[in-house]
Amino acid sequence: MRIEEVASTTKTQRVSTHTHIKGLGLQDDGTAVQMAAGFVGQENAREAAGIVVDMIRQKKFAGRALLMTGAPGTGKTALALGIAQELGTKVPFCPMVGSEVYSSEVKKTEVLMENFRRAIGLRIKEGKEVYEGEVTELSPVETENPGGGYGKVVSHVVIGLKTVKGTKQLKLDPTIYDSLQKEKVAAGDVIYIEANSGAVKRVGRCDAYATEFDLEAEEYVPLPKGDVHKKKEVVQDVTLHDLDSANARPQGGQDIMSMMGQLLKPKKTEITDKLRQEINKVVNRYIDQGVAELVPGVLFIDEVHMLDIECFTYLNRALESSLAPIVVLATNRGLCEVRGTDMMAPHGVPIDLLDRLVIIRSQPYTLEEMVQILAIRAQVEGIALDEDSLTFLGEIGEETSLRHAVQLMTPAAVLSRTNGRESISRGDVEEVHALFRDAKFSARVLMEQADKFIT
Ligand code: ATP
Repeated sequence: MRIEEVASTTKTQRVSTHTHIKGLGLQDDGTAVQMAAGFVGQENAREAAGIVVDMIRQKKFAGRALLMTGAPGTGKTALALGIAQELGTKVPFCPMVGSEVYSSEVKKTEVLMENFRRAIGLRIKEGKEVYEGEVTELSPVETENPGGGYGKVVSHVVIGLKTVKGTKQLKLDPTIYDSLQKEKVAAGDVIYIEANSGAVKRVGRCDAYATEFDLEAEEYVPLPKGDVHKKKEVVQDVTLHDLDSANARPQGGQDIMSMMGQLLKPKKTEITDKLRQEINKVVNRYIDQGVAELVPGVLFIDEVHMLDIECFTYLNRALESSLAPIVVLATNRGLCEVRGTDMMAPHGVPIDLLDRLVIIRSQPYTLEEMVQILAIRAQVEGIALDEDSLTFLGEIGEETSLRHAVQLMTPAAVLSRTNGRESISRGDVEEVHALFRDAKFSARVLMEQADKFIT
């Protein structure tokens, strides 16, 4: 599906390491289960996140944001994703890193704005009816040319359709008659008639209509035959950013995204403020008409201390907007300078934004918890490893970071397979551990041997 084409791959990769997280793993009373929904430990933070989810559901979180503090690799991204999943299955989740805003080509606030729009979903509902049956009658009804000219014109066409539920007579538009004639449809043929909210959109022979695009399965599936007068609701989930980029693309194909890309005419070639405003107008109209529903998602900004005062000002304003996602910020910094100023502030976040924040702290993991998390990841990635290597990986995680330990699993699996073994052994982990260094180690080496490097 074209939506995939629009989404940036780096975002997908960033989320893919968290595929095992299915929610916050809380009980009805809000308490955290030690291991549930793919989550391990971090009970206090999960319970606090659960309260935030309740506040969001009760619409008591408007204009506010969440700040997560804690060392790297303590599951801050996982917590933000868990919140998004608790809010619903198709809620957009957009992770970004503060430093992403610094690009030579795009304005800082433009990068923020784009990510804001990636985190706001729109659910578009389309009421579709499909009739299928055998043609018993096909008669054009002619009337005098209303323009006063010579001859007669087809004003409508009467179709008799024998369906499973009996024969019905339908009065259709002359353009429909033209399409039927083009397909040489005659009495005795089996045809379909597709209507959208009462208006006939397509007709044709059933053999030509043997498949339809299934949005869930994301593929063409055979249309059930003889299932007459089917009423179905097609639901499509897109983000505002999908709409922006689909409408900014110079040309489209015949699929759903190109239809979504025709909200605006004439088409623009780049995403501008004006285009976004026009998209907002159309979106608001759809919402008013009840055709679409807004699905605010979660925008996760890691290393928020990397943002500067200009970005913080923008964030403050954006949080006020009616089209705002849930914003989750994360940092591991204490008191530091707000970038772009000489002000010191907790977490490098200006006081006026801090005022809006609810703060959750994530704690370092114990060895046992690390081993449990590593075991879940190994299972998800289909990697087999014995107890001994799992514990050793856990120890590496304690000494370096959980992320590093998770990342060592894939090369260790490659190594064991190269050596003709199905399962990772301690030796494999030792070997990859010696080969791949974690960031902390590299930093230490750089510090100790600074004089040996060009500075
Ligand atoms: P942070 O944002 O604090 O740096 P993170 O969520 O990005 O942390 P990683 O360091 O990427 O965490 O964690 C490595 C892996 O461990 C990821 O796949 C992450 O989903 C997983 N993970 C982290 N915390 C937990 C947890 N409490 N339960 C289950 N899996 C976890």
